[in-house]
Amino acid sequence: NGFVELGLAPELVQAVADLGYTQPTSVQRKAIPLAMGSDASKFIDLMVSSQTGSGKTAAFLLPVLHTLIQQQAVAQAEERAAFERAVAEAAARGEPAPKRAKRKDPTSSRNFKAATPGALILCPTRELAQQVAHDAIDLVKHCRGLRVANVVGGMPYQLQIAKLQNADLVVATPGRLLDLQRSMQIKLDKVQFLVVDEADRMLDLGFSDDLAELNQLTSQRKQTMMFSATFAPRIQQLAMRVMHDGGSSVQ
Ligand code: AMP
Repeated sequence: NGFVELGLAPELVQAVADLGYTQPTSVQRKAIPLAMGSDASKFIDLMVSSQTGSGKTAAFLLPVLHTLIQQQAVAQAEERAAFERAVAEAAARGEPAPKRAKRKDPTSSRNFKAATPGALILCPTRELAQQVAHDAIDLVKHCRGLRVANVVGGMPYQLQIAKLQNADLVVATPGRLLDLQRSMQIKLDKVQFLVVDEADRMLDLGFSDDLAELNQLTSQRKQTMMFSATFAPRIQQLAMRVMHDGGSSVQ
């Protein structure tokens, strides 16, 4: 499978194999290694020219999911080590072993916490956001504990909020996302990866101000990727505003 050479996590290679993808498409071959970066702390911003049907969705989902998987593995190893230390210390003092902390039921309103996703994918339309979320769910099927949520207008608010809890990757249209942010159902200060899909349509549909606001709200992020069918001047202006040096171009 040609995805192995891209250095993706085995869970993701398995997922693409399940989907019947044998070779990365051109945009995937170019964008994925660049997006993954050379080490887990340095990421470059990308401006990718891509048409629908080119495989662009997996080109941004795979590198983002890969890094989230790696981060989760590190966090779990640290948690295990801390627990083992606590057990050893208790044994040295002749005390009973501590119990592992129980996970709280996120659906109980007593345990309500605003969602704090690590990755945010912005799409211009509800249909596209649903398609991208669907693709993301297919790609995380072998990843234990990585959760995907979809935030779009027109869906019952309560249902969306329940699904949002514990989400690691959120796929959203800008308007509904900002509604949830203003009502404090979601916090964007843990977003590390921001993807703007179909940036040209985003501007056509009048999301320029929303994008500017989301740009501010996620200013701590490590990486921004913009995907667009065209590199028109207004797209380049947007790229200059939201990415370091306007992002490295991938055609
Ligand atoms: P997209 O451009 O992201 O809308 O993808 C277009 C279609 O290509 C979708 O149905 C994907 O499931 C499919 N696809 C994406 N990557 C690959 C690949 N490497 N091999 C075969 N099909 C793919």
